[in-house]
Amino acid sequence: GEKEFDTSFRIVHPNGDVKHIRGTGKVLRNEQGEPVRMIGLNWDVTKEKESAKAIEEYNQLLEKKNQELNEFTYIASHDLQEPINTMNSFSDLLLKQYDEQLDDTAKEYLSYIKGSGVRARQLIADLLDYNRLGRDKELKLLNMDQLVKEVLEDLSAKITESKGDVSVGEMRFVKGYELQLRLIFQNLISNAIKFIPADRTPKILVASKELENHIQYSISDNGIGIEEKHFEKIFAVFRRLHSKTEYSGTGIGLAHCKKIAEMHGGSIWVESEPDKGSTFHFTISKNLS
Ligand code: ADP
Repeated sequence: GEKEFDTSFRIVHPNGDVKHIRGTGKVLRNEQGEPVRMIGLNWDVTKEKESAKAIEEYNQLLEKKNQELNEFTYIASHDLQEPINTMNSFSDLLLKQYDEQLDDTAKEYLSYIKGSGVRARQLIADLLDYNRLGRDKELKLLNMDQLVKEVLEDLSAKITESKGDVSVGEMRFVKGYELQLRLIFQNLISNAIKFIPADRTPKILVASKELENHIQYSISDNGIGIEEKHFEKIFAVFRRLHSKTEYSGTGIGLAHCKKIAEMHGGSIWVESEPDKGSTFHFTISKNLS
């Protein structure tokens, strides 16, 4: 040959087994330039070949499943809205127009139906929001001092009502998706205000620090805390640790936060001790483009 030998090929063993082989060789030539000898090496790359192929197939499958799941969530939640709206409007009508004919027990039952209808509508709206997250994509360099200040203004009624105190440390700038970062702070700060024992006032600290490849933001509270065994599952869609009468909510907020952190090349986690308080940390990659 004119050039060095480097190739891959298959061999089929007598028992039918197929092996993938990589072979490389060096040609030694005499003074006239004629090839006289070849030194080379063959080695078995079957495992590497198979795992690369398996990873590729798996990635394609995942992508397809993910797409199907998104479509399914959208269709399911969208189509569910209609029967639920009908149910809600007719229970309203029954309560309004048949007020005289209904006894107290019937009214009570109807109000349960209505309550569940309203809740179902909220769950579906949340699910649709979750599915929509990430569709609007405009990366911007964000002044996080300003962003957190605005989030606190939006939450000012809740903060005043709870007599809460929120301190904000230096907020490092970051490149990210504005709406989503606003949402993550809004969710985490609202939770910090909400999950507080009735006899305590919220003390919340918002801070940031720079890591090698990420900026880390943290929201600490002095609330009811979370047991370690729940640290992972609170980030799943519709996972809650309390009844809705104890603390309101649908359980999607932290799932939103997780999706947002991951879309920013980061992650989210919690440190907490029951009855002492919780700190939620999330990171945003410094290299988003
Ligand atoms: P929601 O607030 O609607 O219940 P989230 O997804 O925001 O839903 O939170 C999920 C669960 O995690 C909550 O129901 C609560 O049990 C727990 N949790 C979240 N934030 C806090 C916090 N700051 N302190 C204590 N528990 C929390």
